[in-house]
Amino acid sequence: SVTTGDLVAWIRAFRDAVQQHKDELTRLDSEIGDADHGSNMARGLDAVVAKLDPEPSTPTDLFKTVGMTLVSTVGGASGPLYGTLFLRMGPALAEADPVDAAALGAALRAGVEGVIARGKAEVGDKTMIDALSPALEAWDSAARDDASPAAASRAAAEAAARGRDATEPLVARKGRASYLGERSAGHLDPGAASATLLLEALSDTLA
Ligand code: ADP
Ligand code: MG
Ligand code: MG
Repeated sequence: SVTTGDLVAWIRAFRDAVQQHKDELTRLDSEIGDADHGSNMARGLDAVVAKLDPEPSTPTDLFKTVGMTLVSTVGGASGPLYGTLFLRMGPALAEADPVDAAALGAALRAGVEGVIARGKAEVGDKTMIDALSPALEAWDSAARDDASPAAASRAAAEAAARGRDATEPLVARKGRASYLGERSAGHLDPGAASATLLLEALSDTLA
């Protein structure tokens, strides 16, 4: 099963992936936004990692720290949305023992539902939800087949990447990119790209 240490390693791996892809995320945001998504996320995740020493001892403590730090340091649209994702995941894991694929999938569902409640985006609006929602479906379907956390997270990461790629032709209906109307088509959504990094980091950590 998945330990708190694994979840801490996931968050660290997400920070590393965002740092590695920072310029690319910012370039995507320069096409259809205000060119700050990479720097927003990198700044927030550096602040998060600075708070992981000493290491939180429960998933609930971990995700509360991650969520609150992202809300207060990322700003923009993505700060409160990623913050909500983690703030909702923590309580969902409070009673989970062991943290298996089903429990982690349920926590992810609580998180994504929080993002949808807050941002009101649906699949197809060209946002991070286009990566997160299919990831969730893939996770649940793997967990129903008794998949390990490693297998469920791999399926989820692959689904997220397909969802990210599918944002390219879409016209944005939420967030700053929606101000561009039809001109937002022909570019990947930066938030869908960072959300894919999140799922890929989890899959790499649990592999
Ligand atoms: P800002 O647009 O305020 O500069 P960022 O550039 O950090 O914030 O984040 C932009 C990303 O946030 C978008 O690419 C999109 O994926 C996501 N986003 C924006 N609005 C919403 C929303 N209402 N629901 C879900 N995701 C959203
Ligand atoms: Mg931006
Ligand atoms: Mg901005």
